Amino acid sequence: MVGYLPEEFVGSRIFGRKDYPDGGEATRRLMARVLEEPRKSQELEIRTGHKNGTFLWMEVVGINLLDEPGVEAIVWNFRDVTEQKELELRKDHFISMASHELKTPLTILSAHTQLLRERFAAEDRQDVVQQLSKMDDQVASLNNLVADLLDISSLQAGQVELARDAVDMDELLHEVVANLQPTTSHHLLIEGAAQRPITGDRERLGHVLVILLTNAIKYSPQADTVVVRVAHARDAMTVSVQDFGIGIARSHQQRLFERFYRVLSKKDQTYPGLGIGLYIAYEIIQRHGGKIWMESVEGIGSTFFFSLPTGEYRESAALI
Ligand code: ADP
Repeated sequence: MVGYLPEEFVGSRIFGRKDYPDGGEATRRLMARVLEEPRKSQELEIRTGHKNGTFLWMEVVGINLLDEPGVEAIVWNFRDVTEQKELELRKDHFISMASHELKTPLTILSAHTQLLRERFAAEDRQDVVQQLSKMDDQVASLNNLVADLLDISSLQAGQVELARDAVDMDELLHEVVANLQPTTSHHLLIEGAAQRPITGDRERLGHVLVILLTNAIKYSPQADTVVVRVAHARDAMTVSVQDFGIGIARSHQQRLFERFYRVLSKKDQTYPGLGIGLYIAYEIIQRHGGKIWMESVEGIGSTFFFSLPTGEYRESAALI
C-alpha cells in the first residue's frame, strides 16, 4: 500500500520520517495497547506517506492472540481508507459551507416576514397575518435545522465553547415543556425535581431536552404521553425522557449516538430527520462531564437518560 518493497521497509527508518506525521508515535502506542490487552482488538487511523510522495489514510487493526492455542500470534490488518476518509472530509466541509450560506438569507427572510406581519397587523388584516405566521414557523424550523448543522460542524472541529451558567434544571425543564406542549397532542408530563442547580450551558442543555422530547414525540405516533423524570443523587442529577412508541431494536442501539445514524423503518412509515440530534445531545452532555444512554424495547418504547454532575463546576467538566 505504501509503495515500498519489503526489503526497503525492513530496518529502514521510514516510520520515523517526516512524511509519517503521526505514524511513528501513534503506531508505537497502538502496539503497546495490543500487547497489554490480549484478545481485544485495537484500531487506529493514520495518515501516512506513499513512496511516490502522496499521502494515504490507513486503518490499522491489531489483536493479540498470543495466548490462543493454535494461533499464538498477533494478527494485524491494514486497510487503505483514503477514499472513504476524503469523502468524509469533503462531506464535513460541504455541510459547514452550505449551512453558513443558508444562514444569511434565512435571517433576512425572517426579518422581512416579521416586518410584514407587523404592518398587516396594524391594518388589522388577520388573514394575511395568519399566513405570514405560518411562513414564519417554517422559516423558524429551517433556522433550527441550519443551527443544528452549524453545531455539528463546530462540535466536529472541537470549536464549541460552553457557557458556565448556574442552571436551574427544574425551571429549564418546565420552560422547554411549556414551549413544546402547544406543538403536540402528546401530554408532556414532568415527574420529580432536580432541586439543585448545575453549572453549564443553559441554552445547549435546553437544546438536549428539546432533541430528546421531540424524538420521543416523533417516534411514538400512536401514544399520547411522554414522561420526563428528574432525580438527584448526592453529586449528580439524572433526567430521563420516556416514550411509549416504536422502540429501537437492540442491534441499532449501540450506534444511535453516531453522527447521521438513523434506523430505517422496515414498515412503510418513514420519519423525517437527518440523524444528527442524538449526536449533538451526546457531544453536549459529554462536554459537561455527564453521561447519556438509553434503554429501549422494540414495539414498547424507549427511555433516554442523561446525568450531569451537580455542585461545583469541576475543571475536568470544562475541557472542550
Ligand atoms: P433523527 O431523529 O433526525 O433521525 P436523531 O439523531 O435524533 O436523528 O436520532 C437518530 C435515530 O435514532 C433516529 O433516526 C431514530 O431511528 C432513532 N431514535 C431516536 N430517538 C428515538 C425514540 N425516542 N424512539 C425510537 N427511535 C428513536
